Amino acid sequence: MKRFLLVLALAGWFCPLCAAQQQSPSAAQPVPSASSVATLPVGEVSAQKRITAYTLPADVYQKAHDRSRIHFRLALIGFVYGLAVLWAILRWKLAPKYRDWAERFSSRRFLQSAVFSPLLLLTIAVLTLPLDIYGEVVEKRFGISVQSWSSWGWDWIKAQLISLVIGIALIWLLYSAIRRSPRRCWFYFWLISLPVGVFLVFLQPLVIDPMFHKFEPLQQKDPSLVAGLEQMVQRAGQNIPPERMFWMGAGEKTTAVDAYVTGIGRSKRIVVWDNTIAKMNTPQIVYVAGHEMGHYVLLHIAKGLTFLAGLLLIFFYLVYRSIGWMLARGGGGWGVRGLDDWASLPALMLLLSAFFFVANPVASAFSRYLEHQADQYGLEVTHGLTPDSGQVAAQAFQALGEVDLSDPDPNPMNVFLFYSHPPISDRVRFCLTYDPWGKGGTGEFVK
Ligand SMILES: [Zn+2]
Repeated sequence: MKRFLLVLALAGWFCPLCAAQQQSPSAAQPVPSASSVATLPVGEVSAQKRITAYTLPADVYQKAHDRSRIHFRLALIGFVYGLAVLWAILRWKLAPKYRDWAERFSSRRFLQSAVFSPLLLLTIAVLTLPLDIYGEVVEKRFGISVQSWSSWGWDWIKAQLISLVIGIALIWLLYSAIRRSPRRCWFYFWLISLPVGVFLVFLQPLVIDPMFHKFEPLQQKDPSLVAGLEQMVQRAGQNIPPERMFWMGAGEKTTAVDAYVTGIGRSKRIVVWDNTIAKMNTPQIVYVAGHEMGHYVLLHIAKGLTFLAGLLLIFFYLVYRSIGWMLARGGGGWGVRGLDDWASLPALMLLLSAFFFVANPVASAFSRYLEHQADQYGLEVTHGLTPDSGQVAAQAFQALGEVDLSDPDPNPMNVFLFYSHPPISDRVRFCLTYDPWGKGGTGEFVK
């Protein structure tokens, strides 16, 4: 969910690359997105069956459909609720109160931010907590989350601490820019946020992710899988050393299967969840890893960051153009002195949230495009390595859809607004029909 702490959201934006079709409820945590449909290893069930289309048994179909309907509603309600929270904070004049305390505490701007920012961010977090709890209740009801409430609560606290640390610095930088240059502040803050964003993406796998999950080198956990993956890496003519492949212990919190690519520069890596290894057979995992390698080789993290930077530039400008109007309308009644007052922050956040929501279709379509490219890359890189590779890929998506309760028939508006991945039915169809080799050609990415 693209919530208030933009750059933190930015760091998590490309996190769950494979299975998760909903946005992450907390930017710092990969979203759990599956259910324990079967106690049998799903791969064993599906691997036996020849796939012609993505289908689910009637009872599972109903569950998947219900869950996606709830998620869709929750996403829409979450947006309106988020705006309402910010509106209420403005009406209740909470930000001016926090500003007064901050200014009384110190005349130094950074220390003022260290008082003001945590108070405001925590107020927002506490007011939106009921919705977060309800989201977790839903995931438990569908058997997707297996996390205890105490562990969930501890994760929530850790996520807040991370957002406070980043928030203090970013909000201080934002108001420094506003004070230095009231007319160009949107551009200067954008410039500052670029290296901060890249730095956070670099830090995410090294510092933030290990606060929520256990990571081990894949080599130690499953050497034979690494050998299979290395073969594929060579087929692609790539060089991804085994030190860049990680095992993640997701099973203590969720039943979902997933894998993702994260990090930048020296922290860039492929991560495979323990559940994925447990519930899929080796050729299927190799396909999933081939998809992840597509993200890695085709530089999707850098492309995603560039895309987001472009969006932010437009948004910051639009917020700058509209904030004057908004403060002129409500500023006096809200106790806000002007744009350079700390207390204007909830109004800035409100506008930014609205712009982000409006941009959802574009951002989701862009993400679906990258995911489709990675699907294609996975097919090309496993062609000739795995017998009947298109069928194996289709089986991998069938297994993933069964475990993660992917809706075979999602609401088109839900797809349009929020789907970061193509619907599973489309992905299965593509795997079964993509065949440039049959026409005497070669792959587009892997020759
Ligand atoms: Zn992906």
